[in-house]
Amino acid sequence: MTAPIINGKQISEDIRKDLRAEVEQLVKQGFTPGLAVVLVGEDPASQVYVRNKEKACHELGYYSEVHRLPADTSQADLLALVDKLNHQANIHGILVQLPLPKHIDEKAVIDAISPEKDVDGFHPINVGNLMIGDDSLLPCTPAGVIELIKRTGVEIAGKHAVVIGRSNIVGKPVSLLLQRENATVTMCHSRTANMKELTRLADILVVAIGRANFVDASYVKPGAVVIDVGMNRLDNGKLAGDVDFESVKEISGPITPVPGGVGPMTITMLMQNTLIAAKRLQGLA
Ligand code: NAP
Repeated sequence: MTAPIINGKQISEDIRKDLRAEVEQLVKQGFTPGLAVVLVGEDPASQVYVRNKEKACHELGYYSEVHRLPADTSQADLLALVDKLNHQANIHGILVQLPLPKHIDEKAVIDAISPEKDVDGFHPINVGNLMIGDDSLLPCTPAGVIELIKRTGVEIAGKHAVVIGRSNIVGKPVSLLLQRENATVTMCHSRTANMKELTRLADILVVAIGRANFVDASYVKPGAVVIDVGMNRLDNGKLAGDVDFESVKEISGPITPVPGGVGPMTITMLMQNTLIAAKRLQGLA
């Protein structure tokens, strides 16, 4: 029997509808959440991401500013802009689009963003708060992964979750969030021995490795929830996940497709973070 498909696009639209309604109320009360996006250089993929963020702000009623800076912008000038945005009262979220040009130290820039406005959830204070279980702005893609699992109706608590990939932006925070939801979590990476033996024990399998169609049905326990974070551009221009969707969906439980699974959730979670940050800064949360 073919597994239920987790429709990330629809779920994302449902969440956006709620955000739009809440922002509308705030605007009526005279308060508009604001997001500033900073893009340095002309990386084509980054330009698309930034345009999509701008579009989401517009559709949901947020105030938005996009700062498009030339590729040769100095680190000092970028840090000065971040500092200005940190102090700008109508901006509640700041996102500096990564990757940055090689001559700029990404860590220095992330560290310079006010943690209260760090809607990407990459600042060490937010990462630390996530680690110790305190309130923080959560990184967007991992937060989207958890939201998708929750919306399958499958209880996370008590389940064995396996996460393949241990990057700071996806694998590690996903594993922390799953622990927060009371799953028992196993993490796999490129040096994991006998990975299939572990993944076949997973009730929930999250894959974030960046290798097209790597995980086939032989990695998956029948009925497991499978979340595919991978976004890999194939030679034919098509997008593929890290999971071989066609074979895995024949044995898994609810499964995300690529595209249309995790992808649409990332910007939606960014918009949610911006609203959370705005309400906290305004003393409304
Ligand atoms: P990354 O920084 O390259 O990390 C990849 C991780 O996968 C590493 O921990 C690596 O292990 C592990 N890995 C690589 N090959 C492996 C293998 N054969 N077996 C087991 N583990 C393996 O990648 P990332 O930034 O986390 O991104 C992962 C994927 O998610 C990419 O396709 C990316 O495009 C996608 N992504 C999607 C979104 C979205 O919005 N949907 C957002 C972010 C990322 P080691 O640590 O041992 O090297």
